[in-house]
Amino acid sequence: MATTDIFEKLKKLQNILVKKYELEQKIDEAPKQLSSQEELLSRMKKEYIEKNNEYDSVKANVGKLKLELDEAVKSRENGEKGMDNIQTHREYEALEKQINEATERENEIRKDLQKEEKLLEEIKETLKINEDMISAQETDLNASKESLNNELSSYNKELNSLKKSEDKITPDLDQEILFKFQRIIQRNSEGIVAVRNGVCTGCHMILPAQFANIVREGENINFCPYCSRILFYEETGEEETYDSYFNLEEAGSLADLDDDYSDEEGFDEEEREEKLYDEGEEELDNEDEDDADEEDAENDSDDEDDDEASEEEEE
Ligand SMILES: [Zn+2]
Repeated sequence: MATTDIFEKLKKLQNILVKKYELEQKIDEAPKQLSSQEELLSRMKKEYIEKNNEYDSVKANVGKLKLELDEAVKSRENGEKGMDNIQTHREYEALEKQINEATERENEIRKDLQKEEKLLEEIKETLKINEDMISAQETDLNASKESLNNELSSYNKELNSLKKSEDKITPDLDQEILFKFQRIIQRNSEGIVAVRNGVCTGCHMILPAQFANIVREGENINFCPYCSRILFYEETGEEETYDSYFNLEEAGSLADLDDDYSDEEGFDEEEREEKLYDEGEEELDNEDEDDADEEDAENDSDDEDDDEASEEEEE
């Protein structure tokens, strides 16, 4: 297959993949929409359980108070009955004491009981309100789940049709290139970009002139050495060349250039362009030299290590 055909297929595939990855992400994140509703519901249920425990313990206390009340009442009634058969003053005093104490206890217990029964009634009402709120919240959550499922099924439908389109294109492509291409799109959303005037339009780096020429010849698939995107060459007109180059420079430096050249030296347009291109090439050359220096430095340090090792052996 001609490289231009591959480029066309990759561009088509790129449109599909970008949409596909977007959808996959949406599908992935969709259930999170429910999390706040689910959290609220589980908090309500937790509170309900706590309230219910409180209800049980107050209820148990009410039961206990009722028993105590029965005992106090019995003790008072027994005392009162005993009064009919007393013989001595001492017996009278003892019974009177019993009756008084029992009555006092009875009154106290009745007061407590009243308080606890009121509390029990309040808790019961709160529980009823909570039950209604929980059931309303459950209804809401179910409605949200249903709408989410509808959303998801429409996403999945779209996703399936994208996958079908993808499957029509991918078998014609080299699997290794395809794999790299997919990875780049997942990361950067663009996997194939144009080279204009020797510049990668994906990362805006100036490509080495020789490499840019290889891309221009278009015999193979080439990846940008800086951003790893697949590159195709796009020819630009003469005038556009000039503009595009300037767009790469910062606005500030552009203004500076204008001042320097037009006011003092009186450069004409052509000379100015030439000068800029020369500067561009110089930058590239410098970069190459830097790389070479680094390699040398690495080699040097390796040599030193060797020297040290041999010195140690001698010792
Ligand atoms: Zn690039």
